[in-house]
Amino acid sequence: MTTDSRNCLFCRIGRGEIPADFSHQDDLVLAFRDINPKAPTHLLIIPRKHIDSAADLAETDAQMLGRMFAVAAKLARETGIAERGFRLVSNSGTAAGQSVDHLHFHLLGGRSMSWPPG
Ligand code: 5GP
Ligand code: ZN
Repeated sequence: MTTDSRNCLFCRIGRGEIPADFSHQDDLVLAFRDINPKAPTHLLIIPRKHIDSAADLAETDAQMLGRMFAVAAKLARETGIAERGFRLVSNSGTAAGQSVDHLHFHLLGGRSMSWPPG
């Protein structure tokens, strides 16, 4: 399921072609509010580089992944969800419910969550 980055929704957000409510932007990573939030706090953390999903990651992506996790932790603290608890999740592939084929972490918090996920 290789998505052409020209037509990829999250690449287009990264290029500024589609607006988003950004929480963070740097040279490697962007974070913005999910358009259809599933929790009081629901942010998406994405790499600027197009990667289809977590199934395509390699050790050479270590710097980018480190930044994604650091940004997630910073935003969890800044939004106040770190103290009570939050979920950081990446759906990969159809069975897991991935609907946008550009790697992203969901940062969810502000309510209690059940486990395991459905
Ligand atoms: P997935 O289903 O792939 O795990 O997550 C994709 C997420 O992207 C969904 O939670 C969906 O609400 C969000 N989303 C889809 N289109 C847009 C958009 O145009 N803008 C923003 N900010 N989020 C979007
Ligand atoms: Zn993309």
